[in-house]
Amino acid sequence: MMRLLPQSLFSRMVLILLGGLILVQSISVVFHLRERDRLLFHSNSMESAQRIADAIRMLNSLASADRQKFVTALNSPTLLVSLGVIPSSQALQNPEAHDQADSFRMMLGDLLGGTPPIEVVASDPEWRLGQLSANTPGLARNTFPQKKNAFTVETRLQDGTVVSFDVFPSDETFPLPRRLLLNLQILLAAVIILSLLAVRLATRPLNTLASAAEKLGKDINSPPLIETGPTEVRRAAHAFNTMQSRLVNYIQDRTRILAAMSHDLKTPITRLRLRAELLEDDDHRIRFVKDLEEMEFMVTATLDFMRGVDNPEPVQPMDIMALLESLQADAAEIGQQVCLDGVAARPYPCKPAAMKRCLGNLIDNAVKYGKNATITVDDHHKQLQIHILDNGQGIPEAELERVFEPFYRLESSRSRDTGGTGLGLGIARNIAQMHGGDLLLRNRPCGGLEAILTLPRRS
Ligand code: ADP
Repeated sequence: MMRLLPQSLFSRMVLILLGGLILVQSISVVFHLRERDRLLFHSNSMESAQRIADAIRMLNSLASADRQKFVTALNSPTLLVSLGVIPSSQALQNPEAHDQADSFRMMLGDLLGGTPPIEVVASDPEWRLGQLSANTPGLARNTFPQKKNAFTVETRLQDGTVVSFDVFPSDETFPLPRRLLLNLQILLAAVIILSLLAVRLATRPLNTLASAAEKLGKDINSPPLIETGPTEVRRAAHAFNTMQSRLVNYIQDRTRILAAMSHDLKTPITRLRLRAELLEDDDHRIRFVKDLEEMEFMVTATLDFMRGVDNPEPVQPMDIMALLESLQADAAEIGQQVCLDGVAARPYPCKPAAMKRCLGNLIDNAVKYGKNATITVDDHHKQLQIHILDNGQGIPEAELERVFEPFYRLESSRSRDTGGTGLGLGIARNIAQMHGGDLLLRNRPCGGLEAILTLPRRS
């Protein structure tokens, strides 16, 4: 059921408004037409009642010998008059027909002043015509086409003669009034247009807010929302802007503290290094220096990681193929094998040092954990994709996202002491997102890991 509902708020609101509106309009048209039919029936009945009342008065004034002639002249496809008792009509169980019969009796009573007593019965036309043709020689049943609501009016003339009038109201249906339909169409079209406008007005700020939140996720320093429009929209935009500036302050404070700590650690580490050189025991000195180098490496990586969030480097067009070739050459110099395939159609605007850092980290990981690296470049109209593949162990599926967390390293890398801080992938992803892109990892079906760096191309 939920799946059948349209997904966007806009279409749901349109559906509710239009659906509700069409339903209400249809109900009111049905009521309107029923009322119209009731009024038409009333005026038709009034006409028949008038004819019957006149006929009764006339029959009372005629001598019984002349009555039959008059009755014959009176008969028409909607009224059949019979003198003498014809077995009482079959009452219909249709409550609507009963109501109509009652109101018909009241009309006749009013016209004849309450006397003589009149009985009006709603009858089944087929059955009644059968009865009448049995009693009235020469009556052609097909003169009375099948009718829906027939009545039999029975009364007595002043001399006691029973007379019955069978009324076969016309079946003629009245076409729907064209003006009413035209009015309804105009009203519906106007309401549809107005509700579309209103719904658009109500949902547009939500779209703006959603895209602002999306941008904020990629770039915390994205420009604030313009605080205009109706009160609620202005309030939401203001709340969003306040949240953004608080977030920026919070991140800046945290970055500043961590960067200051990391930076200040560098000085005592350098001092310790100098002092370590003075150690006489070679074994001790080598281990001491190695530990200090590790500490320094961690401090530098932490600084880089923190800087990644708030990188002031200007954006410049960059020849991605040239950058990858230089990274390939650097790797070859220290005996690492990196293959490069594909081509970038045009320079990519980016923060050059950050991009070098991002690709460098991915290539380092591929050669460190996967023995060699193959880079393929796919340049599409809308995005530039760089795949870095290796032939190593890959990463367990459950850990594919966790390895992006700062300082998180797989047990296998920690125990093999591959070196590293657990910041490389986090830094690389930060840089990708800083450029509006993303970095994903997936295990290759044939073994090894594939890092996919996707960077949007803006036209
Ligand atoms: P570091 O390499 O400094 O430990 P990273 O953030 O670059 O930190 O990587 C986090 C962890 O992800 C690594 O410790 C390693 O366990 C795992 N990893 C990264 N790249 C690969 C790869 N290509 N193949 C297998 N495991 C990898």
